[in-house]
Amino acid sequence: MAALDSSQLDLLVKKLNLDNQALILEVRDELANSGNQHRIDLLNHEPGDSGDESLANTLADFNMARLDRQVQGLRDLEAAFLRIKNGEYGVCVDCEDDIGFTRLQAYPTAKRCIACQQRREKQDAQEGHSRM
Ligand SMILES: [Zn+2]
Repeated sequence: MAALDSSQLDLLVKKLNLDNQALILEVRDELANSGNQHRIDLLNHEPGDSGDESLANTLADFNMARLDRQVQGLRDLEAAFLRIKNGEYGVCVDCEDDIGFTRLQAYPTAKRCIACQQRREKQDAQEGHSRM
């Protein structure tokens, strides 16, 4: 289990919930502007009362490039909530070290410690470069 105490975890969960709500509002705006009223209806359920279909999956079904970032954000949040549920939150998925409260405050959905994230980004940049 992560080296977070319960008050730190509380704080991060609150932050994740706020981010989640903000993102859902953003998506609603996006959909309202696009005139997809029937899609907006999909969003009008309370979080957590849906069946097996997650919001991110529902959104991923429509092909709107501008929603990509929001969908990715919702997926990150869902993944973070899942890790909290499983007691894996705050632990780096690569090296299993503690991610650290300071980093989680800045990036509550972080799933890697700074060292692994930087290594990852460097790899991605190099791969991106070689494709050019
Ligand atoms: Zn790590």
